[in-house]
Amino acid sequence: MRKLSRFLPVNRKQAVCERCGVRLTDLDWGFARYGGRLCTDCREKEREKQLRARGYLRGLEDTRLYPDSYVIIDGDNGAICYAMCPASSVKCDETILGLLARDLEEAIFPGDSSGARVSYKRVTRDHRVDSFAVGEDTGIATEKLWLPKWLSEAGFGKKVQQILEGELERLNLTLSEQTTLQLVHKEYQSKKFEEDIK
Ligand SMILES: [Zn+2]
Repeated sequence: MRKLSRFLPVNRKQAVCERCGVRLTDLDWGFARYGGRLCTDCREKEREKQLRARGYLRGLEDTRLYPDSYVIIDGDNGAICYAMCPASSVKCDETILGLLARDLEEAIFPGDSSGARVSYKRVTRDHRVDSFAVGEDTGIATEKLWLPKWLSEAGFGKKVQQILEGELERLNLTLSEQTTLQLVHKEYQSKKFEEDIK
């Protein structure tokens, strides 16, 4: 609390959301220094609005409205792209997509899959989604499943495809498969990183 006071005016106990007038919590104050003084609900709505403005959709349901929608599975809080495919080609549900993201993240970051994410975005065919970290492959909006080179080279492309097509529920990687995936990724990433920064 002491630290926060440097960024905030003194009357924080009386402060209210500048949009809806609700009393702000300490958590809201924590966020206030990054932007407007908003309550949790209004902040979440604002975040969603901004994502939508950048072409992101709310869920698999939304993607049916737009033929150019893609499912993007990423990890490490958006730094690594694990897979990208036309939403219309996905036969499994969002729960299964979430598990796939977590299983891949768990292989790369054992014990912490909290950075795994599934998002839905409108992307023009053949365009790239290049919001990923240096050294990582940029996702490409192809007509089929796109995977980063390290993931297909490690031999897991078929399984990922089967999950997306609803033929398989989980990756169910063995410990040694997880290790393989982690090593292949690490090696690929450090090599590409060197090339990217040249
Ligand atoms: Zn509010």
